[in-house]
Amino acid sequence: MITGNYEVIKSVNISLVLDALRQHRELSRTDIARMTGLTTGTITNIVTKLLEHGFVKEKGSVRSSSGGRKPTLLELHAEGGYAVGIEIRTTAIKASLVNLLAEPLVTLEKPGMFRYAQGLEIITEMVEKFQQSLGRAHEKMLGIGVSVPGWVDFTMGKIHNLPNLPGWENVYLKNDLEMILKPPVFVDNDANLSAQGELWFGQGKGFGQLIYILVNDGVGAGFVFNQQIYRGKGYSVGELGHVYFGGSEEICRCGKTGCLETVASGKAMETKYRRLTGETITVEEIKQRLLAGEEQARQVVLQAADALGRGIGALINLFGPDSIILGGRVFRHNQEFIDAVKEAALKYALPVMSQGVSIGVSKLKEDSSIFGAVALVFQSVLQPYSLYALK
Ligand SMILES: [Zn+2]
Repeated sequence: MITGNYEVIKSVNISLVLDALRQHRELSRTDIARMTGLTTGTITNIVTKLLEHGFVKEKGSVRSSSGGRKPTLLELHAEGGYAVGIEIRTTAIKASLVNLLAEPLVTLEKPGMFRYAQGLEIITEMVEKFQQSLGRAHEKMLGIGVSVPGWVDFTMGKIHNLPNLPGWENVYLKNDLEMILKPPVFVDNDANLSAQGELWFGQGKGFGQLIYILVNDGVGAGFVFNQQIYRGKGYSVGELGHVYFGGSEEICRCGKTGCLETVASGKAMETKYRRLTGETITVEEIKQRLLAGEEQARQVVLQAADALGRGIGALINLFGPDSIILGGRVFRHNQEFIDAVKEAALKYALPVMSQGVSIGVSKLKEDSSIFGAVALVFQSVLQPYSLYALK
């Protein structure tokens, strides 16, 4: 429990120290003080606590060029803790066991489309396998982060529903898993976690205000502002796909017409291509035909890019991000689409807002939400209240 401002400040400080070590790998206490703006006394206290819990280790000292006292270097202790990141997809359930440096140790994947009861069984089996592989160190499993493609109440860990995955309506995933498995469970939306994953481990490193644009069958956005996922008041934010942009009278899966998703998603491209040519092909085939120079494929892709660019332009105007990251399979091997989206985003945003905004493609590719799930575990667990609880 957060008991007051003092506790909040302490937790922020611990996060700052861990962030500095994650980003720079090896630092002295003085380096950390300089980077975080905290006093050396505060750093010493925090580091002592982190050393006690085995999350950080001392790494000997470096030679000082001035011949002065050699400072002891600190680094995150890879074996000091472990986390599991799980992604529930419409085509598979994928899970990774990572160490404290977020290096994947074991990855498991079960292809298929699963309903809730099966999903619970598969996740449980995967986590139990990870625990076996850790042997006695399984007690250092800090938590399990789960990414789901839909609406979830983060605080309760309750899934409202997953639009493209039937059988997951109104289920308490966090609670149900915690009844079976020991480590704490955190459940969040895939776009949110992809944003967090990119910020911690990918393209978004070093940025403060980051928006992740996820384009698969649908279109979504995840926001990380000041290092924190922005979750709004309840089940969802970033429903970019269901913002009215006009240009289409297509009925969206949400029941409304004119949604961005009916023009800019992978599914929308397939529908548009079918209307144009009479041929039913996948978005992957549309990409290949675009590469081969086919005009209809180009028309479909560029129309989607323009619509998506409008959406991103609006987000730039509204939130003033410093980084926009494009992710999801529609962007993969689709350079012409990427270029067109960037160009449109800059065209539709106010120049004063778009100036200096970095727009790039996800580096973590399909694993950004798994890394985000892992980041969520580390962020949630490695706070002072939890450190006391770990004793
Ligand atoms: Zn809609």
